[in-house]
Amino acid sequence: MRFVHESLPQRVCFDSGGAARAVAAEIELVKAERLMVVAATPEADLAERVTAGLPVVVRHDEVVMHVPIEIAERARKVAANRAVDALVCVGGGSTTGLAKAIAMTTGLPIVAVPTTYAGSEATPVWGLTDGDRKTTGVDPVVLPRSVVYDASLTLGLPVEMSVASGLNALAHCVDSLWAPGANPLNAALAAEGARALHGALPEVANHPKDLPGREQALYGAYLAAVAFAAAGSGLHHKICHVLGGKYNLPHAQTHAIVLPYVLAFNAPNAPEAADRLARAFGTPSAPAGLESLRARLDAPRALRDFGFAESEIPAAVSAILPFVPASNPTPVTPDDLALLLRAAWEGSDWR
Ligand code: NAD
Repeated sequence: MRFVHESLPQRVCFDSGGAARAVAAEIELVKAERLMVVAATPEADLAERVTAGLPVVVRHDEVVMHVPIEIAERARKVAANRAVDALVCVGGGSTTGLAKAIAMTTGLPIVAVPTTYAGSEATPVWGLTDGDRKTTGVDPVVLPRSVVYDASLTLGLPVEMSVASGLNALAHCVDSLWAPGANPLNAALAAEGARALHGALPEVANHPKDLPGREQALYGAYLAAVAFAAAGSGLHHKICHVLGGKYNLPHAQTHAIVLPYVLAFNAPNAPEAADRLARAFGTPSAPAGLESLRARLDAPRALRDFGFAESEIPAAVSAILPFVPASNPTPVTPDDLALLLRAAWEGSDWR
């Protein structure tokens, strides 16, 4: 046996209904006295609840998906002007992403309170967009010091967004089984994450106002993100990363749509990963298990429903190809990629 696994330094608190006390405790640990709270306008009330009584010097709500560079720069100036000494972000991956962009240049510690299943809070990956080009990188300074998961904050996440975001989390599990840094430890985390998400997402879809499904979904999303952080991006993430940045497609929905195609493409040449997923899903085959889950969830099906045009497929293939990991279980040709994108564009069966 020969592998390297890096465990990241982060405290994680699960406290349903207790985010305010958990965040206060984490802020005490980082000894902060001048907080900047980052939350998009729709999550402002949740953020207010979670940070009431804390020494907040500024609340910042200019949050845009994929973190455009000019938005990041404005937020960094606000942090500097108000002499902030820690960041609390309350929201989805876009909000966490903005907090990371501030931490990247200031070194400020982050306490993250996620309200979707995106998982950014558990990775040292930052992302910034300049025009139609999204750049990502890894920097330990952007990894939140603490994460507080409070499922009660997610009860208002609409079912459609919950489903798409939950499948985004599942994509972290699947892709980390064959990403360049895949190893037995993150495979174990990914399999447990996939099991939890497979059970939780139908619960969330059928009972969105009940805590148990939401708690399991957050638990699965955290495991998924830890596995992804250790394994890095595989084919699935490379495809979605280019599509999201170049065509401004919604992140979670893009992952939800592309995942079954990448799984079907790779599964025949990744039998161990496919077996693990099938066991996690409790189904005879991983692609069939994912398909049946997606049907139960009425998951998003076609990229064309989210603004991706068929005429863009050749350009998208050229943009993705240089990023395809050499270690992908199934070798990827331009024709394969075009077929995959066409099927995802249309929402049709694979081959
Ligand atoms: P998002 O943060 O844009 O949120 C989607 C929508 O859900 C928004 O309209 C938001 O207002 C709403 N919302 C969030 N929480 C809510 C709640 N509790 N109740 C009601 N509405 C709520 O989307 P996302 O999918 O969470 O994150 C996407 C972004 O995260 C992308 O930019 C992606 O690149 C990034 N991301 C980064 C990493 C990483 O490791 N760096 C990992 C995953 C995602």
